[in-house]
Amino acid sequence: MTESTKTDENHSLSVEDKLGLLDFDWDENQFITVDHDLCVKCNDKPCLYVCPSKVYQLNDDKIVYNIEGCIELGMCTVVCDKIGNGAITWNYPRGGKGVSFNYG
Ligand code: SF4
Repeated sequence: MTESTKTDENHSLSVEDKLGLLDFDWDENQFITVDHDLCVKCNDKPCLYVCPSKVYQLNDDKIVYNIEGCIELGMCTVVCDKIGNGAITWNYPRGGKGVSFNYG
């Protein structure tokens, strides 16, 4: 192991740590909605596995979702359409709202 690799490991951040560095301007508009009638019949529930922000959670075998931590990847709607039951209606937050990524 090289010295630079050791340094990288010492300074590596978990996904949760990195998500904690993001800024959000909360859009109270419901920019993601889930059709529960379609959702309840979904067997694989892929939305649970693709979102690093864990917007989707299982509660008593039902999907619950909290869009406050959404980082706008859009993978949930892709997997819901391709593998799930197409229950998610996904939009970006209104202009200027939502996540801000800090670069540098
Ligand atoms: S992938 Fe879509 S249909 Fe399946 S559980 Fe998630 S939101 Fe519901």
